[in-house]
Amino acid sequence: TPRPLVAGNWKMHGLSASLGEIEAVAGGYDAALREKVELAICPPATLLERASRLLAGAEIALGGQDCHERPSGAHTGDISAEMLADAGASYVIVGHSERRADHGESDALIRAKALAGLRAGLSPIVCVGETRAERDAGRASAIVEAQLDGSLPRRAAPDKLVVAYEPVWAIGSGLTPTPLDVAEMHAAIRARLVIHFGTGAAATRILYGGSVKAANAAELLRVKNVDGALVGGASLTAKEFLEIAEIYR
Ligand code: 13P
Repeated sequence: TPRPLVAGNWKMHGLSASLGEIEAVAGGYDAALREKVELAICPPATLLERASRLLAGAEIALGGQDCHERPSGAHTGDISAEMLADAGASYVIVGHSERRADHGESDALIRAKALAGLRAGLSPIVCVGETRAERDAGRASAIVEAQLDGSLPRRAAPDKLVVAYEPVWAIGSGLTPTPLDVAEMHAAIRARLVIHFGTGAAATRILYGGSVKAANAAELLRVKNVDGALVGGASLTAKEFLEIAEIYR
């Protein structure tokens, strides 16, 4: 089994002053912890370059929060995967539910973005997850499987790919699924990955995301087939982000 990954998604938070939090995370990420868990921080694009300099030597990975599917071109306001790699990133989040909702991103577009990440040498973190209404209707796993079928690259080295299960209703709400619900969904995702990529799919990390904090990290992340976390709000302060990572020590 691969080393788990705890990735912080800062979303649209963070100004220059926040670089201190990145330094503080680096300060608390000692050699013993590095062996047990990989850390990544996905700050807003404006901070990537400076974050990358601060982290040189700290062995904390950087990620972008989105990318365009093309390497360059007339696409005002967009950023390519190659640009993220050039700024020091090694991950890119694609298909976050906030992008699916706010920007109408389709599974097909997310697949193209995931492929763009791979093309640029990044590991895409492909996000999937059902809404509250979909879960209440008993359709959660069908929805997630359809998102995987539509948005995963058809061919990829499974160890380069990361999937994040983020139930939409758990994001920023303080609500979480039960460990049993997480176990069921992550098993279903693993089974789907095996259909796509064969037994090599054991190397794909499946992260849980949605209201992860220090207080619930142990119970959510010690579930079978949970290979780490994608953390929003609780990743904005170094102390809490490190406390989440510490469950692996
Ligand atoms: P919160 O941890 O703030 O619920 O956000 C989760 C998320 O969307 C991470 O990508």
